[in-house]
Amino acid sequence: MAEKVRTGRCVVAVDGPSGSGKSTVSRRLAGALDARYLDTGAMYRAVTWAVLRSGVDPQDAESVGKVAGEVDVKIGVDPEAPSVTADGIAIDREIRGPEVTAAVSAVSAVPAVRQILVAMQREIITAAGRIVVEGRDIGSVVAPDADLKVYLTASVDARAQRRSAEYAADLSATATDLARRDRLDSTRAADPLRQAPDAVVLDTTALGIDEVVTRLRELLAGQVADR
Ligand code: C5P
Repeated sequence: MAEKVRTGRCVVAVDGPSGSGKSTVSRRLAGALDARYLDTGAMYRAVTWAVLRSGVDPQDAESVGKVAGEVDVKIGVDPEAPSVTADGIAIDREIRGPEVTAAVSAVSAVPAVRQILVAMQREIITAAGRIVVEGRDIGSVVAPDADLKVYLTASVDARAQRRSAEYAADLSATATDLARRDRLDSTRAADPLRQAPDAVVLDTTALGIDEVVTRLRELLAGQVADR
């Protein structure tokens, strides 16, 4: 059965708040499984970048939905070299900037945006076959039939420290921004950040990346073997 994890179709859903370790863990896990890797947050960030570029107010849901329908977002799924383009422009660096980060929760709360991106994500997952997908609603909405659903969490302090180190940003400003995004992402009406009832919850506050990846590989082997 471990064979299926190595060679067969296998979808791993990794959800959780910002700074919980999702991206690093998901990329490493995908590499270890020789699977594809999908960063759905990068897709919401790409649409947000397009919204800002077009001068649309991120709070104007109707215009935001229109931009989402028009922009051509393409996302690379190689865990060694994730990439994202909007209308052919490489925006890997831009989508991590403060302007996009400040506006992304408003844009991703627009149902029309989610409808478009969730449909794209499902297509990518089906085409990939073996893939680790990270986001906020993967286990609950995008891939409810995933072979393994994981919900990563960590204390706000640990998450703020990781994020501020990653972006060389001020710690208290980062903590404030994380708390703001957590609140917006978990209270929005459309597909909020939610722990799927059948997700395995892992608190990464005191765990290293290797420990988390090893734990997930063990869980995956057990989960698939149980079917
Ligand atoms: O994961 P990352 O921090 O890059 O995600 C950026 C934002 O995109 C989140 O704060 C959230 O608003 C949105 N998002 C979402 N659903 C996902 C992934 C991200 O709403 N599946």
